Amino acid sequence: MLPWLTRYQQQLNTLLTTGQLAHGLLLAGPEGIGKHQLANWLAAALLCTAQTVPCGQCKSCLLRQAGSHADLLIIDSSGTSIGVDAIRQLSQFMAGRAQQQRNKVVLLPDVEKLTEAAANALLKTLEEPPQDSFLILQTKASNSLAPTLLSRCQHWSLAAEYGDDTQGWLAQQSNRAVPDFLLHYCAGAPLKALTMLESGEADQLELLLNHLAAFFNDTQSLSQTVKQLEQATAVTTLLGWFLRRRLLPQLADMAPARILAIHQLYSRWCRDEIQILGQNKQLALSAFLTELKRLQG
Ligand SMILES: [Zn+2]
Repeated sequence: MLPWLTRYQQQLNTLLTTGQLAHGLLLAGPEGIGKHQLANWLAAALLCTAQTVPCGQCKSCLLRQAGSHADLLIIDSSGTSIGVDAIRQLSQFMAGRAQQQRNKVVLLPDVEKLTEAAANALLKTLEEPPQDSFLILQTKASNSLAPTLLSRCQHWSLAAEYGDDTQGWLAQQSNRAVPDFLLHYCAGAPLKALTMLESGEADQLELLLNHLAAFFNDTQSLSQTVKQLEQATAVTTLLGWFLRRRLLPQLADMAPARILAIHQLYSRWCRDEIQILGQNKQLALSAFLTELKRLQG
């Protein structure tokens, strides 16, 4: 198990072994925190027929590992939304008998993708879950879920990880050097940080942040900076992060009106990036950086 998830694993295991586990569970946390890993472990523990679960050797564990366990249903969330048909399938599955004489488990990732009708249908199932059925929901956006849905689940919020332990784990997983900003940049989601590290995206990001810093320190020209930023994939995220974590903390003594002007400038530029089709991005970025530097100065 991923080291930062072991505390949740222990708590869930205690509830499971004492028969206190809720039938509807919601695992919430940012993308790349490990919700799927924890959900899969819990499903394995609920389905395993051995004493210490999951054993990895019983018939139930072998069926699950082969991807053919009749008592495990994984709802496909790869599309843009999850419709009412998927929830109907879920309800039917939960109403049936367990094939392996133990529990039935449904994994429902990306709950925020449920359509309104699907969410309403799910509520009915969550109201009266059969005794041996467990529904494990996962979301990266629990704020967007209906309170009626939230109130019917036991909520497990997987906290962002910024600690030295996690930083150390990240360093162990990769041959590449871990930039110290990476975990923060990934909102404390270590698996996302690892993906960025392995793909080389983190290196590129570090380079761009250094270029930006150089521009604001007057050691690099505007045109050079714009040229480099143009090649970045998520330039609004990158600049937003640079503003919040690098630039604004240095300007703490500045008049509040000017800080506000910086925030407004950034919001306006983000809005134009999205809304103005055919905008000359190079010009817009140049104007934004010039004005930002003026306000900072
Ligand atoms: Zn087993």
